[in-house]
Amino acid sequence: MPVYEAEAIVLRQYALSDSDRIIVFITKEFGKIRAAAKGVKRPKSRLAGSLEPLNHIRLEFYGREGQDLGQIRHAEIIRSYLGINPSLEQIYAYSYFAEIANELVQDNQANYPLFRLILSIMEAGAKNSITPALVRYFEIWCLKLSGLFPNYAYCSNCGKCVKDDGFFAWIEVGQARCNACAQGRGMKIGAPAAAALTLMAKLPPEQFVAKPLSSDAAREIEWLSQRLLVLHLEKQLKSYRMLKEALQSP
Ligand SMILES: [Zn+2]
Repeated sequence: MPVYEAEAIVLRQYALSDSDRIIVFITKEFGKIRAAAKGVKRPKSRLAGSLEPLNHIRLEFYGREGQDLGQIRHAEIIRSYLGINPSLEQIYAYSYFAEIANELVQDNQANYPLFRLILSIMEAGAKNSITPALVRYFEIWCLKLSGLFPNYAYCSNCGKCVKDDGFFAWIEVGQARCNACAQGRGMKIGAPAAAALTLMAKLPPEQFVAKPLSSDAAREIEWLSQRLLVLHLEKQLKSYRMLKEALQSP
């Protein structure tokens, strides 16, 4: 069987048998893949430590074209983001990031920008603290890089540029409406939130989170990203509520 090499981030693992696990990865080269980790639950398994969730690893696996499940041959840690004394916020945030990525990334279809986004967001979360701004940045960019974030720069009815004044998002039809055209309908995104969305599009995560973001703007962007995620995934992600509670507790 041919051996493939990939740079990968571990998204999740689940049981295949008492001693074997199936690991789900997002890889730089192949998008989302699943591979069996044989014997990983046995004591002395050489694979065990390297396949923990959110590890950034170098992966070698056996696979065959058209076959859904590969088999892991070797895994080597590049960086373990939950390795040493992670904070509760980091654990919840990274679990949430992994769950979103697992839902949005397509099987066997490379999405290098999204792979890079996950790494840069975990890097930013490791250097600084986990803030609502960082979480919002990840959600919005995940939607963008999956082709699920509408163009909210102009009113879809009259063509007015709304990115500085704010707008009303018509979620189901993927449109923005200016104040006059919305006639009170849609989700209000005020000027500060609209400005933050523009900034997000331009700045890397560490620079974005260093800028002030009012709690009103953060809340509006949260509503927007959650409505879009639920619309496309047709469910609310389990890890979202836990993260929300962790970020709200003093
Ligand atoms: Zn308009």
